[in-house]
Parts: sequence; structure tokens; C-alpha cells
Amino acid sequence: NAKKRTQNNYSFYDLQFKKDAISYTETVTNLKQAVEKGELELYFQPQNDAQTGSIVGAEALIRWNYKGEVVPPDFFIQAAEKSGLIVEIGDFVLRKGFKTVKRWHDKKIAKGRVAINVSAHQLTHLDFINTLKSMLQESGCEASWIELEITESSVLENPDLVIDLLQKIKALGFHISVDDFGTGYSSLSYLKNLPIDKLKIDRSFIMSIQTEPKNQIIVKTTIFLGNELGIHVLAEGVETEEEHSFLLENKIDSIQGYYYSKPLSLDEFEKLLKM
Ligand code: C2E
Ligand code: MG
Ligand code: MG
Ligand code: MG
Repeated sequence: NAKKRTQNNYSFYDLQFKKDAISYTETVTNLKQAVEKGELELYFQPQNDAQTGSIVGAEALIRWNYKGEVVPPDFFIQAAEKSGLIVEIGDFVLRKGFKTVKRWHDKKIAKGRVAINVSAHQLTHLDFINTLKSMLQESGCEASWIELEITESSVLENPDLVIDLLQKIKALGFHISVDDFGTGYSSLSYLKNLPIDKLKIDRSFIMSIQTEPKNQIIVKTTIFLGNELGIHVLAEGVETEEEHSFLLENKIDSIQGYYYSKPLSLDEFEKLLKM
């Protein structure tokens, strides 16, 4: 229903961006200008301890302020990846993310790490490690305040290169999480070989937990696997009391989802941090 689809002040039905149904080429052209015109912005969604409910981190999520609308990434991230613009956008996200985290630490309102999404293209780009280093210097941010989210497909595309990169990232002091866990062509061997701190169980398993007994088993087993391997396990997209209690019973570490909060603008999120 229409109400369910409404989040962050936009509704998928109202979105002019979608009605215009702009082409790939137009999206890329507009997106290039968006970077230059400063139309990109970060929202923050809290991550909460499953037992106490207190904020233990946040994920930075990009938004595009386009013609008065807040456009979510599903409308432009693929075009950004395909065109290579994701490197420039990724740099923006890192720079803005680090700067924001530094400010929270200075103001003593920081709560846990901030997770930043890194696309496969961005990760394997020639300069990524140097970019991270220079942005740490530039921002005064500590690597241990940041978690970088990668996806299973990043690893799969180029395993040897990615193992090397992740070890370098880890050596700098960043934490590493696997996003959308379970949706890619996962190989369990990488849990053994890669320096991974956290698994984020994909929302698709969580949203059907109630109706799909198989998903219950998958989620339970993933939590168990993470716990046994000493890897933190977070569930994404938790919306209901039922989902929450199922996850808690099965010893999930933390939760990110509308159950606690949708992604918030910087101002809104800072209010939450100060509470
Ligand atoms: P993701 O990294 O898996 O982020 C989680 C997505 O789930 C976010 O969507 C968040 O708003 C949504 N979500 C969280 N809790 C709930 C819930 O309870 N119910 C529902 N229905 N949704 C929930 P968002 O912000 O639209 O981002 C979509 C995807 O776009 C992200 O998925 C990520 O893959 C990508 N993305 C976002 N920001 C960036 C970025 O800065 N760089 C890159 N490369 N990708 C990004
Ligand atoms: Mg993510
Ligand atoms: Mg995810
Ligand atoms: Mg996702």
C-alpha cells in the first residue's frame, strides 16, 4: 500500500524523478552536475543494540536533492556504477562522512562507528587506499571510528585483489562489514580468509521471517555462524516487534531498521545523538 512505501518524506508514487523516467544518459548528465552543485547529501540510520536498544552505530546513506525532492540511491547508484561516477560520488561520501564523524567526536556526541558503503568499482579503483589515507589526514578522523561496508559481489569479482585490499584497509584500522549478507554468491571460505568484523543479514531474509520457515533457519544459522566465528551480526530492515523478538531470541548483536528509526537527515540524527 501507498503508506508503507512512504519513507523519508518521499513516496515512490509522487517522485517526479520517477515520473520523468529519465534515461540512463540523462541520469548520468544530471548526476555529474549534482556532484558539482552539491546536491548530494548523507542521511544517517541508527544501529541499535538488540538487547538494550541503545545506539551503537549508524550507517551513512546517500540522498540526492533533485528539483526539490529527496531521491534515494536505488534511482541512481546503478547509473553511477556503470558510468564510473561512483568513484567521485564515493569520494564525496567518504569526505563528508569522515568530516561528520570527526565533528561528533569533537562535540562528544559520537555513538559507535559510522558505516560507509563502498562499491566494488570504488574499492578496486587504483587509488582507493591512498584516498582513504589522505582523507583520514584531511579530516582528522581516526580509522577506528569508521566501518567500511562491502558486498559479497565485490569479493567475488576479484578475490585475490580484494583480499589484499581488505588487509590493507584493516591494517589502517578500519572495521569491515559484509553488506546484504546472503544475497550474493557467498563462499563461506571468505569468512575464514578475510578480515571481516561484521555480517549484515540482508533485509530480504528479515522481512519474510514470519512467513517463510526457511528464512528463519537461514537467519538463525547465520547468527550462530557469526557468533561462533567471533564476527558481529546485525540484521537489516527490522520493522516489527515479531521480527525483533525472533532475532533477540536467536542472539543477534544489533539491529538496523524502521523498528528503531528510518534514515534521518544530519540535523535530525544529531538531535538523536544528543538525547
Ligand atoms: P544498504 O547499504 O543495504 O542500505 C540499507 C537500505 O535499507 C537503505 O536504503 C535503508 O534506508 C533501507 N532500510 C533500512 N531499514 C529498513 C526497514 O526497516 N525497512 C525498509 N523497507 N528499508 C530499510 P537506501 O538508503 O535507499 O539505500 C539503498 C542502497 O543504496 C544501500 O543498501 C546501498 O547499497 C546503496 N547506497 C546507499 N548509500 C550509498 C553510498 O554512499 N555509496 C554506495 N556505493 N552505495 C550506497
Ligand atoms: Mg549498506
Ligand atoms: Mg544492506
Ligand atoms: Mg541493500
